[in-house]
Amino acid sequence: MSAVTGTASMAAAIALEEEHAAHNYHPLEVVVSSGDGAWVTDVAGRRYLDCLAAYSAVNFGHGHPVLVEAAKVQLDRITLTSRAFHNDQLGPFVAALAALAHKDMVLPMNTGAEAVESGIKIARAWGYRVKGVPQNQAKIIVADGNFHGRTTTIISFSNDPDARNDFGPFTPGFVSVPYGDAAALEAAIDDNTVAVLLEPIQGEAGVLLPPADYLPAVREITKRHNVLFIADEIQSGLGRTGATFQCDNVGVVPDLYLLGKALGGGIIPVSAVVGNADILGVLRPGEHGSTFGGNPLAAAVGLAVVSLLSTGEYQARAKLLGERLQARLRTLIGSGVVAVRGAGLWAGIDIDPALGTGRQVCELLMERGVLAKDTHGSTIRLAPPIVVEAEELDWAVDQLEAVLAELRG
Ligand SMILES: *Cc1c(COP(=O)(O)O)cnc(C)c1O
Repeated sequence: MSAVTGTASMAAAIALEEEHAAHNYHPLEVVVSSGDGAWVTDVAGRRYLDCLAAYSAVNFGHGHPVLVEAAKVQLDRITLTSRAFHNDQLGPFVAALAALAHKDMVLPMNTGAEAVESGIKIARAWGYRVKGVPQNQAKIIVADGNFHGRTTTIISFSNDPDARNDFGPFTPGFVSVPYGDAAALEAAIDDNTVAVLLEPIQGEAGVLLPPADYLPAVREITKRHNVLFIADEIQSGLGRTGATFQCDNVGVVPDLYLLGKALGGGIIPVSAVVGNADILGVLRPGEHGSTFGGNPLAAAVGLAVVSLLSTGEYQARAKLLGERLQARLRTLIGSGVVAVRGAGLWAGIDIDPALGTGRQVCELLMERGVLAKDTHGSTIRLAPPIVVEAEELDWAVDQLEAVLAELRG
């Protein structure tokens, strides 16, 4: 395709989307038409290093041959049975995922928000049936600055005005405490508290890591008060932080893991609640479900994802490349960068607001062939696919360095 045709189809694609897709996003002006590994190509044939990886849903890169093969084979067999019948892919998938998490039971769903909603329902049912909390009194503690998805119940415990404004009334039963403050969390616990729901690293908030002793303290406190610890590892899990779960990095085992994003290999939405039967077993037939949850295509892809993770190769790679990335990024502090945070191959970079907005930095990065996403005004996030090469990573930081120099004038 010629560059001219490409440019024309780019404008046309953006115009069609602007006119007919709801305006709930503000995408960068790039129209992607294909991807391979850590790279995507736009309709004009320009290549970009994908440093967002669909918010870590594409941890294994675009078109990973093992995942694509698993999907293709299953496409030709059967894709959907509903849970009214058994299918031959679900059992192997849930067994492998449970083993990966060192738990014994999995509730398969589709999107991350559904995993969160399911975790909330399970925690409440556990509270009433096992802990003995009086009906409709269950309380779940969350953290300020959280991001757990976009459903009406989940936004009920968000502090982000954009997520909440004009979407009420809200679901009761949640209490929000400062993130990283274990004493505040313990003080909020009462007899009706059934669960604490946290992101081990707050991704959308700007890749915020709590103090090193926070999650271990939360684990100890929740155990002592007979409260479930639910870790939302939808973005932090499955290799991104240099471990299978970020909880592994801090030596913590939650009662329930919430997984999504990379669990579907960037091919199909696959999410899950993973825990032990003494908790997940509270659900009885008919009490919860999903037409697509646990479908054979999702299970086949999910099983292939678990097989990639079971060797530890991706976790080790994310750890090694992450150290390289974080070290390089820290050298930019003082030259337009105010702070760098991260774990594994996941970084939040605060840009000096005097230089420009995160959005401006992302636009300039795009012109240089790097796709990244801003959050909260002046922060940009980097989370390239784990298959990225070390030299490509260095090159991406070079581009950021050049953008900052450009902005400094
Ligand atoms: C993305 C995300 C979700 C929601 O997942 P969706 O698939 O978009 O519904 C929930 N929790 C965290 C931590 C996330 O990053």
